[in-house]
Amino acid sequence: MTASGSPEVDAPSAVSPGSDVVLSARGLRKTFGTLEVLRGVDIDVRRAETVCVIGASGSGKSTLLRCLNLLERPSSGSIFLEGSEITSTKANVDDVRTRIGMVFQQFNLFPHMSVEANLMLALRKVRKLDAATAKEIATARLSEMGLAEKATWRPAQLSGGQQQRVAIARALAMEPKVMLFDEATSALDPELVKEVLEVMRSLARRGMTMVVVTHEMGFAREVADRVLFVDGGLIAESGTPSEIFTQPRTDRLRSFLSRVL
Ligand code: ADP
Ligand code: MG
Repeated sequence: MTASGSPEVDAPSAVSPGSDVVLSARGLRKTFGTLEVLRGVDIDVRRAETVCVIGASGSGKSTLLRCLNLLERPSSGSIFLEGSEITSTKANVDDVRTRIGMVFQQFNLFPHMSVEANLMLALRKVRKLDAATAKEIATARLSEMGLAEKATWRPAQLSGGQQQRVAIARALAMEPKVMLFDEATSALDPELVKEVLEVMRSLARRGMTMVVVTHEMGFAREVADRVLFVDGGLIAESGTPSEIFTQPRTDRLRSFLSRVL
């Protein structure tokens, strides 16, 4: 994958059909009023690649992920999923969201529904599956997360780590082409972080295509194929974990790393 805020590194071009790029963005900008949060982001995420996104709080990481699955409408720029432009007015947003799974810091499970019902909801409403099929898929995904016996429980009866694994199972149930994680472990008690990182690590190993915003530098170092450093709404540096963590090129990245490592 390549990504950069500077055109000489990553010339804008549409993704050709059959390319192994699953998700890409060109010239992505997002402003809130007068605040320019994304200032021209180019990104390519290849099949089975794990891209970790690091950067200071407020640098635009969440906005980038939210734009990528159209939770936020980019102010300008284009996003392509498997070669077709999802920022086109003709794109079906529901369809895009089934193909891009997202996991949030705060789980976002429905508290009044059982774990299983949380998984079945979008399968029924969006993928229009019948109840028996939806339940079968929900059971399978929960079993993979080691949560089969929690199917009828309410989210609040589970630990934070278990709730986050439910949220991951729910996203996977839709058979997404790419998974976006926005600080998926930041709301967890320290002793629960490991079990969620382990699930993410195993997804990466099994070839899931993932974009992971994380403060877990150890995870980024170990699991990422590429690391992007976001600074002031731009991808200020990108490279392999060893390039980013041991040979940072800019003062901004060096200073960020000195604060977090
Ligand atoms: P990060 O995830 O890197 O901490 P965010 O993408 O959440 O950064 O936020 C980047 C900047 O955009 C922050 O200054 C934040 O206050 C602002 N911002 C994010 N979402 C909104 C919004 N919906 N309306 C106004 N400002 C926003
Ligand atoms: Mg954020």
